[in-house]
Amino acid sequence: MIDGKALAAKVRDEVAAEVEQLGEVGLATVLVGDDPASQVYITGKHKAATGVGIHANDVRLPADAPEDELLQLLAELNADDAVDGILVQLPLPSHLDEAKVIEAIDPAKDIDGLHPMNAGRLYLGRPRLVPGTPLGIMRMLAEYDIETKGAQAVVIGRSSIVGKPMAHLLLQAHATVTICHSRTVDLQRHTLDADILVAAVGQLHLVGADMVKAGSTVIDVGMNRTDGGLFGDVDPGARERAAYMTPVPGGVGPMTIAMVLKNTVTAARARRGLVSGVS
Ligand code: NDP
Repeated sequence: MIDGKALAAKVRDEVAAEVEQLGEVGLATVLVGDDPASQVYITGKHKAATGVGIHANDVRLPADAPEDELLQLLAELNADDAVDGILVQLPLPSHLDEAKVIEAIDPAKDIDGLHPMNAGRLYLGRPRLVPGTPLGIMRMLAEYDIETKGAQAVVIGRSSIVGKPMAHLLLQAHATVTICHSRTVDLQRHTLDADILVAAVGQLHLVGADMVKAGSTVIDVGMNRTDGGLFGDVDPGARERAAYMTPVPGGVGPMTIAMVLKNTVTAARARRGLVSGVS
């Protein structure tokens, strides 16, 4: 099993050391409305941010906040020098235009990596800020010495926050990448070919053990809440066939939060002219 919890703790230690070096690092999260799942995510991110010494500002707006008010708030956060990273918790209430809101975030502070500028840079192979989930998965693969060069990678799901950036990162790491989605015909034909399989769908145990190639690496992004607890998109029985697999919970989830913190530090460094390897 790939231990996402332990690796996330290691990443948080790295981030804490960088925060100490940088001095003040600021994060602002914005939650519109009171969706219970979103509140849990925001609380988790705040706890993690505070734990590594990042100053986290928790901004909340009522569910019926007009779009102008949110855009005005983002303009203020963009202009605030103490804020290095801005995170707007999604999904937004339906009267708000998500694309417009994301585009209103300064790309230099867009720690979710969703602004068209950051998505475009990733597409061009010159990433800056990349969504935390796929970034965390790449770190897991690196940490466990899982070869991506020449590997056949299959990503199930094509969202802007997981599937698409995942496919681009794998492509950049020289994998041969197939992207599957809800209209894919014969999913199993593709998954059985996968040396690296990433399932990011949100359907309980969509990937059966018989859909997994022997000796492969299986990354389960899915978070499906049931009365019995939290489960992934992959049948846990697949671990008998896979060489490496992430558990749910304790796999991708903790890494996602850790990488959002890492992105905050990346943004802080870039804003101070201390740019790392990426261009
Ligand atoms: P979306 O709903 O945005 O995307 C789901 C994708 O799955 C879509 O591209 C959809 O295809 C595809 N899909 C749906 N049904 C099938 C099917 N039967 N066969 C193949 N593909 C299918 O979800 P997200 O990308 O935001 O999230 C995916 C899952 O990952 C969710 O469970 C979410 O909770 C979890 N998640 C976990 C995170 C973590 O930290 N662990 C972080 C982010 C997400 P189409 O495009 O055709 O509709």
